[in-house]
Amino acid sequence: MVNAKMVTLKSGRTKKVQELNYINKRGEEKTKEIILDTFKGLAITRDSVSKLTDEKDSKHIFYTFSILGDGVMDMLKACGYDNHRLNNHSELKGGLCPNATEMCKGTCYNNKIFYDGVINSKINNLLLSLQDNFIVLFVETFKKILKKDKKKNDGKKIYVRLHVDGEIYSLNYLTKLVDITRYFPSVNFFTYTKSFDILGRFLKNDSLTDNLNIMLSVYNDISDSDIDKVRAFCQRDFKIFKGRLTERQEERLSKTYKINKEVDKLKVDKKCLMACNKCLYCVYGKQDIEIVLH
Ligand code: SF4
Repeated sequence: MVNAKMVTLKSGRTKKVQELNYINKRGEEKTKEIILDTFKGLAITRDSVSKLTDEKDSKHIFYTFSILGDGVMDMLKACGYDNHRLNNHSELKGGLCPNATEMCKGTCYNNKIFYDGVINSKINNLLLSLQDNFIVLFVETFKKILKKDKKKNDGKKIYVRLHVDGEIYSLNYLTKLVDITRYFPSVNFFTYTKSFDILGRFLKNDSLTDNLNIMLSVYNDISDSDIDKVRAFCQRDFKIFKGRLTERQEERLSKTYKINKEVDKLKVDKKCLMACNKCLYCVYGKQDIEIVLH
């Protein structure tokens, strides 16, 4: 159940907001205040990736939807739900997603977030994704954005990258994401995942929609058991996204992880040129891709 109520924000403005189920169930008033205070709804944004190429001439427009990994919930708890302490929390750097490897933690985009607003919007997105009404929230928000951008997007193909930060953290969440894609059949959604178990459980009883592509994210320090899972998925026509470190990162991280030689045996067809607007291989899962982590 989601209740609407009037709250007075610090600025003195009164705003109608929705109480968060997740918070209500825990009965933690302080958390609720913080979230209500910073609540700005779902953040779905035009992706800066599209700005890397000439946006005016591009026929492709990218939006992104990001969350912080759900591991942040434990950290919020540990620091008494204090936003500012969380923002300075050293453990915020990577490792919040399920199945994050050492290499993944060391190169996580979270390591590069230093602004409260960015962190808050990703926490908000995570909290809202836990709610029963997440599908409605996403669909309504994205429809509004598309309506607002209609003129700019005229004649262009729309793509949504799910999770620049964040990960598929539960079966329920993956089911919600798949349902969302059904509302936008002309939009192509894509994401990368290391949540092989959750994906496997989903595929036992359900199938992905045609407009959602999931790339399997494989880093050099993947565990042997996960490599086997990736191989099994590849037989079902999943593509892989293989990350490798730059020399400098390799040097910095080499003591903390072991390179899995099995990864080198995975065939990779194409190197990522970091120009999604022109490439689109990940969107359509055309080929296995290798990237240099950045
Ligand atoms: S392979 Fe292509 S679509 Fe995938 S991340 Fe690289 S540039 Fe983007």
